[in-house]
Amino acid sequence: MENIIEVKDLNKTFLLGELTVDVLKGINMSVEKGEFITIMGPSGSGKSTLLYLLGGLDKPTTGKILIKGQDISALSDEEQSIMRRREVGFVFQFYNLVPNLTVEDNVMLPLLLDGKKISKYSDKLDEILDVVELSDRKKHTPRELSGGQQQRVAIARALINEPDIILADEPTGNLDSKTTEEVMNLFQKINREKGKTILQVSHSLETAKYGNRIINVKDGRVWE
Ligand code: ADP
Ligand code: MG
Repeated sequence: MENIIEVKDLNKTFLLGELTVDVLKGINMSVEKGEFITIMGPSGSGKSTLLYLLGGLDKPTTGKILIKGQDISALSDEEQSIMRRREVGFVFQFYNLVPNLTVEDNVMLPLLLDGKKISKYSDKLDEILDVVELSDRKKHTPRELSGGQQQRVAIARALINEPDIILADEPTGNLDSKTTEEVMNLFQKINREKGKTILQVSHSLETAKYGNRIINVKDGRVWE
């Protein structure tokens, strides 16, 4: 099996004034195409930092991240932002939707930012809204939706560019248990039926059950 993600001796240090904080201390891991991985670990252990680096939202201090064999830290800023838009979709705990845009505009936003003509994508939009079961909410704004529905809009937005990898940082951290189940079922469907590789950060073993493997991060390192 091909590794879609490979991380080699990854380190991340933040500078806080005079202080240096070593957040990731030699992370090694690989992810096969089609896996659904849960990253677990105590608060402050570096899980979000790891996810941001994998998604090209920040750069490593040292070490390598290979996405489909390509070292993303060796890319120029522009190449990195192209990679970020094409290869990965991001889902956040607090949805990060634009409040005054409709559901359809929120979902289309990555295409707009990519300079694409969105009129060409109306079939794609309909297909994705069908997957997340929000076809009847196209013209609604986020405040007219429940938390679970808002997260499903965010998942649709993550899918619109057809990335192979979905990165989700505590996607159900703000949801009740019934809604959590709905959202996790949706991730599972996207993983199994669409073949997306998913990495989620989660605190709960309950949601880890939907994935095929757990990676434990503690004190900036991966523990088996
Ligand atoms: P987790 O997601 O596991 O709770 P994070 O990756 O958010 O942990 O944070 C790990 C550590 O890195 C924390 O101590 C946090 O304060 C620090 N940190 C994260 N981002 C930054 C940043 N941009 N600047 C400085 N310190 C940061
Ligand atoms: Mg975090």
